[in-house]
Amino acid sequence: MGLIMNLIPLPAFSDNYIWLLHHNGRALVVDPGDAQPVLNALASKDLVLDVILVTHHHADHVGGVAALTAATSATVYGPANEKMPPEVIPLTQSETVSWQGIDFQIIDVPGHTAGHIAFFGQPQGMAPVLFCGDTLFSGGCGRLFEGTPAQMLHSLDQLAALPVATQVCCAHEYTLSNLKFARCIEPSNLQLSAYETDCKVLRSQGLPTLPSHLALELKINPFLRSRQPSVRASLQHCTPTPIDDADYFAALRQWKNDYR
Ligand code: ZN
Ligand code: FE
Repeated sequence: MGLIMNLIPLPAFSDNYIWLLHHNGRALVVDPGDAQPVLNALASKDLVLDVILVTHHHADHVGGVAALTAATSATVYGPANEKMPPEVIPLTQSETVSWQGIDFQIIDVPGHTAGHIAFFGQPQGMAPVLFCGDTLFSGGCGRLFEGTPAQMLHSLDQLAALPVATQVCCAHEYTLSNLKFARCIEPSNLQLSAYETDCKVLRSQGLPTLPSHLALELKINPFLRSRQPSVRASLQHCTPTPIDDADYFAALRQWKNDYR
């Protein structure tokens, strides 16, 4: 029994993280695409699962929900505007989920999927946490499967406005490939190069690069920096010629899609 809230990324599949938050023997998980890593963690740490949060409908985020609700008495919350398993309680912008004294605020972040939501909470005694699913990655953002560049830009703007100390809990370990692309966009960004060096060390030791935090992402993530002159300079020769904010963001996202 401790007073400290613990935040742990549970690796799943090849590059997913299922985020586990636990405190005094009680647990919350986010985007359990697979039940087994969660069941293993609950057993080894002797935790009771109270809450499951789901950010969007993709199988690598919801696939373990049925097995977890069968094995535990957890309550499941997810996006109101997506097809969800029947046990999921629907949530949308400005609604909250309370757990262990934390009021998680729901932020609608369409773009990767049409109804994607994010969860922002401020646990006592630790930096705020953001569970952003496949919307914001360290050094990158999700692919636009169901939304427009303008929607994704607005979604990322909402996340960028959160407190800079916010811990960014992304659902995939895509950091190194994102940073390789980011360096091609901003070759003179020294914080970006230094961060890439740090992340290579972590990955070579088999450690996660996450959580990141917002202050860092604002300095290194081109998808949060698409209005910066340094980023725009790299995009100005794209076709069609970008004119407004959404055009620049669209050109950046398209370049990343094509980048190897
Ligand atoms: Zn996804
Ligand atoms: Fe995913």
